[in-house]
This record gives sequence, structure tokens and C-alpha cells, in this order.
Amino acid sequence: MNPAIPVIEIDRSSGFCSGVNRAIKIAEDKLQQEEPIYCLGNLVHNEEELERLSNLGMEFIRHEEINGDMKTVFIRAHGEPPETYSILRNHHASVVDATCPVVLRLQQKVRKSSRQFRENGSGLVIIFGKPGHPEITGLLGQTEGNAILISKLEETGSIDYNQPLHLYAQTTAGEEQYVTICRRISDNSLQQTGRNDLVTVNNTICRQMSQRAPRLREFAKNHDVIIFVTGSESSNGRYLSGVAREVNPRTHVVGSPYDVDNWFAGARSIGITGATSTPLWLMEEVAGRIKAIVENNL
Ligand code: SF4
Repeated sequence: MNPAIPVIEIDRSSGFCSGVNRAIKIAEDKLQQEEPIYCLGNLVHNEEELERLSNLGMEFIRHEEINGDMKTVFIRAHGEPPETYSILRNHHASVVDATCPVVLRLQQKVRKSSRQFRENGSGLVIIFGKPGHPEITGLLGQTEGNAILISKLEETGSIDYNQPLHLYAQTTAGEEQYVTICRRISDNSLQQTGRNDLVTVNNTICRQMSQRAPRLREFAKNHDVIIFVTGSESSNGRYLSGVAREVNPRTHVVGSPYDVDNWFAGARSIGITGATSTPLWLMEEVAGRIKAIVENNL
């Protein structure tokens, strides 16, 4: 008797978050009216999607490449610091701003804290996130020299605790790590000052992100093999593929259908999932490739 064909399921709660979906839609609409459009940085951390957008007329540039010949410049969902807007104004570029509304609200809150601390003469904004991440650059740019970035628990030791502290997290930060860091900062503040009112924790991790890991654990548990589709530069992809692997050691990370190998011996169900920067169309192509491999195995 032939072995049964395994069930192949795409995780419908994975893939682009609403902020990235929105940015891509804005880009596609604009590209129908004019091209090229110059996007500051990569719109998503996914090489396949970038290629698709390039073919539609989008050009990806670095900040130092901005020049007066660029008629329309696109700002992606991660957002930008105020300095970028002023550089673009100076170059008379028209701006298509696709900053995610959730990031925009976070920028406003960080700006407000920083301004309040400056007016009061004391206080520090602490942002938890990944050094060099564009969202972090955009957030730090809202502040007035009274903010620090921390990315590890050990860094909480060097904070000056004798002042009010407002804590914020990058929207895509890992929730468990942020909770641990906030707890440590609150404990240190109490120990060093005897006060428990100096630390304000703002839960700014995007809900779409915070729900991803628990949903992914369930999905990964329910399949024999997991194929995690992500671009090599996606930090979210690295984090979530690690979450999947914790519950399902038969998790394989691929960037495209061509990376899929014959990993399905004895599998009755195969789950396909991805990072917030993974397009659905790419997961569908991966599903097609898996189907061809398992049918070939019969
Ligand atoms: S993860 Fe959330 S905050 Fe970040 S771009 Fe997506 S929807 Fe916006």
C-alpha cells in the first residue's frame, strides 16, 4: 500500500502584519501612478518580495544616497526620525509616508516622555530593542539626548536609577525578554532609591507580534514538520523560527521554494509558516514545492 500524502497547511496567522501589508498596498498604488519611487531602506526583510517590488518600479536606496533628482521618496512601516524628513524637505522630495500607525503612536509617546523630562530637568527614556534597527533609529530620533537603548538584561546595571524612568519596547521586541528587563529595572530602582514610583512601564510591543509566538507554538505542535519561510535579514524571522524549533525540532528555515529539501520522511502533516515579513504568495510557492517533493516520494 502506498503511504498517505501528508496534509500541507499554511499558517494563516503568519506572514505580513497589517503595518507591512498597508505599506505594500500604498507602494503598489503609488507605483501605478509613477515610477521610480525611491524607498529608504528595504521595505520588508524579504529578498523575494523586494524583487517583486523592484520589478514594479521601486528602487531601494540608503539614506546617504538621497539626492535632488529623487522626486518621490517612500518611508516604510518602521518609520524615520525627524531628521530624515528635514533632509527630504531640503531636497524637495515628495514623501509617501507608510509609517505604521502603531509605530507612529509609539514615536509620539517617546517624544512626549523625552520632552517632559527635559522640561522637568530629570528623567530618562529607556527603549528596549535591537541596536541599529530602523524602528529604533526612528524612536531615538524623537528624543532630546535623554534616552538610551538597551538590548540585554546585563545593560540594566549601568542605568542611573536616581531619576524617573519611562520604559518602551520596539514594537517587534520579544515580550518575555521585555517583561524580564522591566522587572529588573523596577527592582533595581526600588533597591537603589527606596521608591517604587520612579519607573513607568509602557507595553508597546505590537499585539500582532505578541500573539504570534503563542499561536506559532500551537501551530508547530500540531504538525510533524514545520517549514519556516523567512528572509535571511529578518530578526523577527530568526526569533520566531527559534520559537517554532523549541516545540518542534523538525523545523527547517527556508528563504525560497528552492531551499526545500526532502525532509518529510514519515510525516503525516507539514506546516508552513513565516515571519511578519514573509509574503503569503511565497508560502504558497513553498507549499507547491513541498507537494511536488512528497508526491515524488510516493
Ligand atoms: S509589527 Fe505591528 S507595529 Fe510593527 S509594522 Fe507590523 S503592525 Fe505595525
